[in-house]
Amino acid sequence: MRNQLKHYINGEWIESTGPETIEVINPATEQVLGEISSGTEEDLEKAVKAARAAFPAYSRSTKEERIQWLKNIVKGYEARKDELIDVMTDELGAPLSVSDEVHYHMGLGHFKQAVESLSDFSFSEDRGGHTLLKESIGVSGLITPWNFPTNQASTKIASAIAAGSPVILKPASKTPFAAMILAEIIDEAGVPKGAFNLVNGSGSVIGNGISSHHDIDFVSFTGSGTVGKKIMKNAAETIKKVALELGGKSPIVVLEDADVEKAAKTAISNIMTNTGQVCSAGTRVFIPQSMKKSFEKTIVDLLPTFPYGDPRKEGIVTGPLVSKDQWDTVQSYIKKGEKEATLLVGGTGKPEGLETGYYAKPTIFTDVSNDSVIAQEEIFGPVTTIITYEDLEDAIEMANDSVYGLAGFVVGKDPETLRHVASSIRSGRIKVNDANTDFNGPFGGYKQSGIGREWGDFGIEEYLEIKSVHGMPSA
Ligand code: NAP
Ligand code: MG
Repeated sequence: MRNQLKHYINGEWIESTGPETIEVINPATEQVLGEISSGTEEDLEKAVKAARAAFPAYSRSTKEERIQWLKNIVKGYEARKDELIDVMTDELGAPLSVSDEVHYHMGLGHFKQAVESLSDFSFSEDRGGHTLLKESIGVSGLITPWNFPTNQASTKIASAIAAGSPVILKPASKTPFAAMILAEIIDEAGVPKGAFNLVNGSGSVIGNGISSHHDIDFVSFTGSGTVGKKIMKNAAETIKKVALELGGKSPIVVLEDADVEKAAKTAISNIMTNTGQVCSAGTRVFIPQSMKKSFEKTIVDLLPTFPYGDPRKEGIVTGPLVSKDQWDTVQSYIKKGEKEATLLVGGTGKPEGLETGYYAKPTIFTDVSNDSVIAQEEIFGPVTTIITYEDLEDAIEMANDSVYGLAGFVVGKDPETLRHVASSIRSGRIKVNDANTDFNGPFGGYKQSGIGREWGDFGIEEYLEIKSVHGMPSA
C-alpha cells in the first residue's frame, strides 16, 4: 500500500502541518490504495514563500540551464516508466496498455516538446521602434484533474520550467501518486529548490487557497467549468491571470463519402479511450440520414472489438470509471437518455461479471436531438449520441450549437469538404480523420471550454509577461 503523507516544498519532502488525510481508492477494486495528506493553508503558505524566494534567480536562469533541467526530467521520467504505468493503472483504473500508450507517452511528450520549443524560442526581439522582452510571469499555481494524471501536470510543469516560472502544483486528490513520482523526478533533475513545489489536499482548501493567494501571479487550471468559474471569481480580487482548460461536448462530423467502418471506429474510440473521461472526446456523432442504418449496425458490431474490464488483464482497452461519484453521474445521464432518445446498446447498471469496480456499460444512443440534455451536457463516461443530418451546413450549425468548443472531428474523403468543416467548427482543436497528435499543436478551448492554450510554444507563452522597451541601447 502506498502511503505518502508528505508535501514537496522548497526542495524537500516535508510533513504536513495538519493531521487530516485523504484516502485514495483503486476504482477497479474499490479498495483503499493509499493515503495523502490533506494540506493546510499553512502548507500552501510555505510553498508560496519558497516559490517567491526562488523567483529572482530562477526567472533569470538561462535557456541552456532550463533545457538541461528539462532533458534531465525526460531521462528520469523514462527511467521510471514501469512505475508510472503501474501507478496510473492503480489510481485511475486505466488499462496497462492505456497507462503506457496514452498516459506515460503524453506526459513524456510534453517534456520532450518543451526542450524543442524552448530551443527555438526567443525571449527578446527587436521590433524596430521598440524591443520586446518576454519575462517569467512570477509564481504560478497549477491545479490538475484526475483524468490524465501525468499529461495535465506535465504540460503545465514543462511550460513553466521553459519560462522560468516557479510553481506550486496541487494534483487531483483522486490521482495524486503519479504527480508525486513526477515531483521525485524533478527533484533529481537539478531544478533549483523552490522552483517546483507540490502540495496535496482538497480543492476547497489548497485549490481555493491558490486562486485567492495575493502572492500568486497566475493560475493554470484544468477541470470542470463549475470550479473554473470559482477560480476566475477568486482571481479577480488580485487581478490574477487565469488559464482554464475546461470541459467539452465535441462533435464528430461524418461526411457522405466517409468509410462507415472508419467513422464508427472513431466514434467508439472516443468513448472507450480512458473510459470516455476525456475532455476533448467526440460525443456527438453527426451522420448523414442516408447512412443511419449502416452506421448503427456497424457501430454495434464493432463495439466488442474494444474489450472492457479489469485494467490489469491483457487485451483490455477500457477500464472502470474513476470513482463512485463519476459512476453515479454517468448512470443519471444514461437514465435521462433513455427518456430522450433510443438506446441502441448499453444502458444503466454494471456489466455482467463486473460487479466490483466502478464499471459502466458502454452506451450508445441514437435518434438523438442536438438540444437534448445528453447532447448538450458533458457526461464524462463511455456514452455517445448519434444525431442525423440531411444537409452538411445544418450539421455544422448543430456542431456549433453548444456552449463548448474544445475539439472537433471530421471523417470523410473529399479534401475541400474536410477543409471546409475543419475551418467551420468553433473549437480549439480539430482532428481530420485519424490524424496523429502533434505535441507542438496548441490545446485549449473556444467558448466555455476555457481560456488560453497549453502545449508547445503557445504553452510557454502562458507563463510569460510581455514588456516593450523603447530606446533600449544595443548590447
Ligand atoms: P474538478 O472537480 O473541477 O477538479 C479539478 C481540480 O480542481 C482538482 O484538483 C480539484 O481538487 C480542484 N478543485 C476542486 N474544487 C476547487 C476549488 N473550489 N478551487 C480550486 N480548485 C478546486 O474536475 P474533475 O471532476 O476533477 O475533472 C473533470 C472535469 O475536468 C471535466 O469537466 C473535464 O472536461 C475537465 N477536464 C478538462 C480538460 C481540458 O484540458 N480542457 C482536461 C481534463 C479534464 P480535488 O478534486 O482534489 O478536491
Ligand atoms: Mg471533482
